[in-house]
Amino acid sequence: MMTQRISIVENILNANDRLADENRSRLDEFDVFALNLMASPGAGKTTLIEQTLSLLPKQHHVAVVDGDVATSIDADRAAKAGAVAAIQINTGGGCHLDAVMFNQALDKLDLNQVDILLVENVGNLICPSGFKLGTHKSILIASVPEGDDKPYKYPGMYRGVDALVINKIDLLPYVPFDMDYFKKGVEILNPGLVIFPLSCQTGQGIDKWIDWLSKALIDIHNSQ
Ligand code: MG
Ligand code: ZN
Repeated sequence: MMTQRISIVENILNANDRLADENRSRLDEFDVFALNLMASPGAGKTTLIEQTLSLLPKQHHVAVVDGDVATSIDADRAAKAGAVAAIQINTGGGCHLDAVMFNQALDKLDLNQVDILLVENVGNLICPSGFKLGTHKSILIASVPEGDDKPYKYPGMYRGVDALVINKIDLLPYVPFDMDYFKKGVEILNPGLVIFPLSCQTGQGIDKWIDWLSKALIDIHNSQ
């Protein structure tokens, strides 16, 4: 019984990965650099997207795909902040995006008009890491009020990402958060991971994130 269950789960993940590969080819065909932004609810994904839209040089056309359990609040915010397009995916209660949903969102975008595609995954530190979408980079947004033990409690998420934002560092004086303990946990799971401590509220540290994004965009275009 147990073996059968496991093989069904594996088949679902294999089918997802195949479609994720197709999504990636499509993005590459149109020279679109896509990032999968993952975090727990309230870490600041949407606020980071807004800040990124306002700070990235305007020659980069940014579109946003927003995965949300029920509302279009986040996509509306992205559109207001200057996204060339903001597509809402309502997961109907589902707790992660998958390659099928992302594929449907790509159908709704004019990829000729897009340089960077920011995908806001559903707020959840568990299953989004298990479902590839076809994006080029996975970014995890942690935040200070969540606590410094999260790398230890959600290793799968921390292991699989290409960059880590630590948002809300302006709250460090007010909440218990041992940055060394946090970073030690990250280093065990994902050695050498690039980390951006920043505050979307005060703006502190965001320039380094924007620089990294701009350089990653150039690198990806050179390799496409
Ligand atoms: Mg959001
Ligand atoms: Zn899920």
